[in-house]
Amino acid sequence: MLLPALIFTAYEINSLSDNEALIEQIYQQQLEAILFSVNQYCWDISNSWVNSTEMLYTGNQYKDLQVRYEGFLTKNRAINSIFLIDSSLSELDLFTASGVSHEEALSQFNIQETVLANADILNRLKKYKKVGYRKIESILVAENDEENDNQVRESILLLFAMTTTGSKIDHQFAGIVIDPNLFIHEVLSPKLEEVAGDRFYVAVTHGDATLSIHPAAQAHGGKEALLEFSQQKAFWLFPQFFLGISPQGTTIAEINRARFNRNMVLILLVDLFLICGVWYVYRNIRREMELAQLKSDFVSNISHELRTPLSLIRMFSETLEMGRVATEEKKQEYYKIIGQESERLTHLVNNILNFSRIEAGKKEFHFQEIDLNSVVTKVLDNYQFHLQNEGFQLQNEIQNEELPIQGDQEALSEAVINLLDNGMKYSEDEKLIRIKTGRENGSVFLEVEDKGIGIAEEDQAKIFEKFHRVSSGLVHNTKGSGLGLTLVKHIVEAHGGAIKIDSHPGRGSRFRVLFN
Ligand code: ADP
Repeated sequence: MLLPALIFTAYEINSLSDNEALIEQIYQQQLEAILFSVNQYCWDISNSWVNSTEMLYTGNQYKDLQVRYEGFLTKNRAINSIFLIDSSLSELDLFTASGVSHEEALSQFNIQETVLANADILNRLKKYKKVGYRKIESILVAENDEENDNQVRESILLLFAMTTTGSKIDHQFAGIVIDPNLFIHEVLSPKLEEVAGDRFYVAVTHGDATLSIHPAAQAHGGKEALLEFSQQKAFWLFPQFFLGISPQGTTIAEINRARFNRNMVLILLVDLFLICGVWYVYRNIRREMELAQLKSDFVSNISHELRTPLSLIRMFSETLEMGRVATEEKKQEYYKIIGQESERLTHLVNNILNFSRIEAGKKEFHFQEIDLNSVVTKVLDNYQFHLQNEGFQLQNEIQNEELPIQGDQEALSEAVINLLDNGMKYSEDEKLIRIKTGRENGSVFLEVEDKGIGIAEEDQAKIFEKFHRVSSGLVHNTKGSGLGLTLVKHIVEAHGGAIKIDSHPGRGSRFRVLFN
């Protein structure tokens, strides 16, 4: 049962890490898809600007164009200026938003110089155009701003070949100059906010600087989280600008670890339950086997116990029958022995019957006021021969006064006989039985003591269990049913009393029964 469970656990642990890897891969792909969509968005925007630049172009007078482009530029603040340039790259027309002078626009960098430096790019754009494909190239231009502490000002230049059908002027190329900071904060921000939601941090970085981070409200904490992006991608449109994304508050590795740990704990818990279950089943089976063993011992022991009194009865009755007994006195003695032995036999059979009644819950007691001393004396009278026969000395310390209790005479006699019987059975060389009754703190007690083999501490609680016999030393050779003390305990408890043992191996045992 446990082996398949353990194999399954090993398999699960193994496949857990595979699953985690798969989940991580899917997650990474999802992040990549988000980054892709942001990039696509930027691309669409710039494409639409290029389209507008072309659509607004009429090839008419410069003045007309200035009005048209001015309106367009005023609406799109991220665009600094638009310029048109002829095929020889010598004539440049610049258009700016209203309120922005040409000088101001040109102060950022020398457009003409930059265009000339990238003539090969323009040639390429022209070739693409010829085969009907319009391509947009972006160039990052950095210029020192002399008026402003020599800080580096960066611009993005979008270059493309124009479609100038019907135009008198040869405006072959056009360029859109974009302020990257304005673009990121004004155009891209709403998109980033939408993408980030409350699950991710999305940021735009450039070099060491983080230019923008979403969600903006958590920018501070978020920055820490963004030190290591789960995914990072370069912008298609803006060279050297990066787009980063990571889950809020935690990393994918952490999410995965937490999942892994949770799954591990669950699997181990299931295993633990299984182990407990297996242990429980094993314990029950072991108990069943022990019980089966005890029962088979019981059958062989009980047959032996029945045989002893039976053979005595048979021997004495045969002697009497053959008329070999000389004196009347001897005859009487033999009759008495036969009587006592049959009583012992009755006791044995009673023990078994009582036990089965107790097991079936059908044992009944008939309580009445009786004298404990007279119960004990009667038992001793009947046991006298047996004790002497076995070479036992009886130390009788029965109190003179009456010890009245509410009890069942027959059941109590059974209990005393069982205790006496055990005292005799488990004694070796020192054959002494002391029996004592009395009062203590308002209660009545009975003690049966022997100088026999004693009972080890660890066995003392178990000997009251049914069929239980101590499996060492003398007990091996002494036959018994293992029911005696079970009955004694049941009888005593039915009388509202308690039984205690004081026993030391090799020094003897004292059973003390206390009736309240
Ligand atoms: P049994 O028929 O085996 O005597 P009991 O229920 O009377 O069954 O006793 C259970 C076990 O307790 C015995 O097998 C024996 O090992 C131990 N025991 C009982 N009484 C004594 C005693 N007086 N001295 C030593 N061991 C005892």
